[in-house]
Amino acid sequence: MKSKKINISTRKRLEFVDITLQINEFVNDSGIEDGTVLIFTEHTTSGLTINENESGLISDMENILKKLVPEDRYEHDRIDNNADSHLRSLLLEHSLLLPVSDKKLQLGTWQRIFFVELDGPRSRNISVRVI
Ligand code: ZN
Repeated sequence: MKSKKINISTRKRLEFVDITLQINEFVNDSGIEDGTVLIFTEHTTSGLTINENESGLISDMENILKKLVPEDRYEHDRIDNNADSHLRSLLLEHSLLLPVSDKKLQLGTWQRIFFVELDGPRSRNISVRVI
């Protein structure tokens, strides 16, 4: 097993960050030929997902999260003013378990791994473990 923390500096309040290259690089460096990679975000106002990296689709994904969970008054805002970020994270994954073969992530042609910032910009940590 090999593990690592990856730090991500986000730039916007809501942002899809493609982390596929960083994950693939770590998988390759791990020397593990066949297994699985576990990716986990350590934050309650972020998420992970797999989708296509196409600029129009990224705008659509940002917009659907805003539409499904609009900026509004929520009870958690009494203490933190970021309830919409926590609620948007309900719609995403917080860990992903993906197949590794020949020291490479086995993703479909159009699949990319996204870290989703929901309360940025800030510095974030994700944990990656190749097993
Ligand atoms: Zn909060």
